[in-house]
Amino acid sequence: MDKTGACGASNRGSTPLEGITILMNLSTPIESLPRVGLSYQKRLKKLGIKTIRDLLYHFPHRYEDFSNIIPISQVKLNETCCIKVKILEIENIRTWKKRMILTQAIVKDKSGAIKVIWFNQPYLIKVLKSGDNLCLAGKITLGDKGLYLSNPAHEKISQTTSLIHTGRIVPVYPETEGLSSRWLRFILRPLLVEFKKKIREPLPGKVIRDSRILPIQRAIWQIHFPDSLTLAKKAQKRFSFEELFFISLFVLREKLKISKERAIPIPFHPQLIKNFVKSLPFKLTNAQKKSAWQILKDLEKPRPMNRLLEGDVGSGKTVVAVLAALNVIKQGFQVAFMAPTEILAKQHFQEISKLLKKFNLNIGLLTGKENRIFSKRATLRGVAFGDRKNKVIKISREKLLEKLKKEEIDLLIGTHALIQEKVRFGKLALVILDEQHRFGVEQRAKLATSNQQPASPAGGQATRIIPHLLSMTATPIPRTLALTIYGDLDLSLINELPKGRKKIVTKVIAPGNRKAAYNFIRSVVKKGRQVFVICPRIEPSDKEKIEKEISSWAEVRAVKEEYQKLSKIVFPDLKVGMLHGKMTTKEKEKIMKHFSAQTGRGKKIDILVSTSVIEVGIDVPNATVMMIEGAERFGLAQLHQFRGRVGRSKYQSFCFLFTDSPAKKTHQRLKALISSENGFELAEKDLGIRGPGDFFGQRQWGIPDLAMSALKDIFLVEKTRKAAKEILEEDPELKKYPLLRGRVEKFRERIHLE
Ligand code: ADP
Ligand code: MG
Repeated sequence: MDKTGACGASNRGSTPLEGITILMNLSTPIESLPRVGLSYQKRLKKLGIKTIRDLLYHFPHRYEDFSNIIPISQVKLNETCCIKVKILEIENIRTWKKRMILTQAIVKDKSGAIKVIWFNQPYLIKVLKSGDNLCLAGKITLGDKGLYLSNPAHEKISQTTSLIHTGRIVPVYPETEGLSSRWLRFILRPLLVEFKKKIREPLPGKVIRDSRILPIQRAIWQIHFPDSLTLAKKAQKRFSFEELFFISLFVLREKLKISKERAIPIPFHPQLIKNFVKSLPFKLTNAQKKSAWQILKDLEKPRPMNRLLEGDVGSGKTVVAVLAALNVIKQGFQVAFMAPTEILAKQHFQEISKLLKKFNLNIGLLTGKENRIFSKRATLRGVAFGDRKNKVIKISREKLLEKLKKEEIDLLIGTHALIQEKVRFGKLALVILDEQHRFGVEQRAKLATSNQQPASPAGGQATRIIPHLLSMTATPIPRTLALTIYGDLDLSLINELPKGRKKIVTKVIAPGNRKAAYNFIRSVVKKGRQVFVICPRIEPSDKEKIEKEISSWAEVRAVKEEYQKLSKIVFPDLKVGMLHGKMTTKEKEKIMKHFSAQTGRGKKIDILVSTSVIEVGIDVPNATVMMIEGAERFGLAQLHQFRGRVGRSKYQSFCFLFTDSPAKKTHQRLKALISSENGFELAEKDLGIRGPGDFFGQRQWGIPDLAMSALKDIFLVEKTRKAAKEILEEDPELKKYPLLRGRVEKFRERIHLE
């Protein structure tokens, strides 16, 4: 009987799973694995591991180098060493000082003997017996009575199996409570032996040879149980390469697809654009002009534009998009403008209606229940803007859709409701997306069904017409990331802010200064300005409630609680409002209306407590303080976005960051925010501090961690892109590589094309 506890079982026969696994494949759920009981299944799922493949792809995040086995006579103080020994004696001792149990052993090899101490692992006495042959790895420490080996990893030496916890380079995995690296090694080793051969190589042989990366079967072994740290690195590199390669293939294929489609060429109308620019209450910045020019040039082509307009918060992307839309409309076509939230759609509707007041257009607004994209029964409301009388008229949804089809609406602004089944444009030529980056060719084609036109007389074939696409983002994307995940989009940059913007004073407020900050807020409100308070969540989760009781720094301010506190206790004399994603559209609209009503009698809300729904695009120039609770919970890019909600008027604006987290990294990040007001710079910094995985805060990109961290490596990014290009040139449909094609399709699903 094996006595080494759960993990020691790895010392059994060399392939303990033999026979059982014949019927299994990589997609077999972990439930079918022997020795993975119910509680372990739960823990594995916590790490997102559901199948054998997931388990094999749960890679170590670091390694311990225990490969150098030395005689006891050569151990050195404060150095990590690995020794092969026999136990002479072993016993548990209770310390009188700290009421701790020590397991103390004397071990020896041919060169000498040394004391070993384990702290608080009394069960070891049942597992390790005198006479056992062990391999131990740990640090040599100096005690009262000389040198000893402190808390080493232990592993019995057997004739039949190789060492996995000691005596080699040992993998250390991302763990969760009750799921140790030791257990993972014990499960993974036999699995690898059994399944290594079943893992098929998705990459073309040529790519592997040209890019000199490890083939899959060798790589999967070496990433878990490397023969050297160099090989471990090589294995990691292979998997990073693989992920980046799929992403590159995906975006390049999209690009290829688009380039083969047809679009309506829209001639540039110089006088119209001049008139529009003249009608603006400000002068366009050079960056705005340049971007507008790039867009107008794209629109003139018979191929669909696929452009990303990237510009920091407040850099004035909307007006550039509107300029392009106007040009399209005045040539007799329609434009769709999609915003990520209802609040924003409505705000765009109002602002854009104002901007285009003099141009005699019909502008519609169509929203559904927030983000209910596919529900056909979602109640949609339609509002059409009748220009001549400068009035907003409410009309029924049916009427609005009918008008859309009959081309009586020139510009339709809305949320995801725009891509519902029944929404059909008569003559759609341009789709504008705010803060959503991608929109598949198919979706674009679908919006414009009535556009099917006979193609060139020569061909005689009916070709579909794809609308041009302009996508906008305020998320500054580091270069490598943009090159990789947006490689299918052409990029326009607005890298300057309109003149005269005041610097926003940004400060981290220590918990002790909270009161002073509140007093400051009061004085700001008394002057007629308004304030945002951002909280990480709507309600405190159960876990947080518990945390809050047991630890003061884990205090998480949730919107509802904070609202209660601010409105009842801190500012009972001021008007405090609340906004979060679970409110109905009506409620949200009411709140936004009250908050954005101009100063004076119309203004009903002084302080708006909100979740991150406020994040993108909200424009209330009279708000001059942005206060962020639990700042450590947001990505730097997101914090920068919040900050961009203020500083939109002639008044001095402030951004206060509250955090109770003592973590050094948090403070390092928040400092970066204070010292820089440039979104692009911040993006690069955050990439350096946290790695790209965290960069986007809670946003899901569906990009695996490994690929994310590989994005720091511009050289690798460029190499994979080149390899992907070559494969596509040779075989655009990937017919020769069905496995590769499958993986690329999977990636498409993962990145959630709209
Ligand atoms: P974002 O790029 O974040 O979407 P917006 O388009 O909402 O920014 O513009 C922010 C504000 O700046 C708006 O009130 C807009 O009218 C104003 N604005 C845009 N361009 C200019 C400019 N060139 N000069 C001054 N103000 C401008
Ligand atoms: Mg915007």
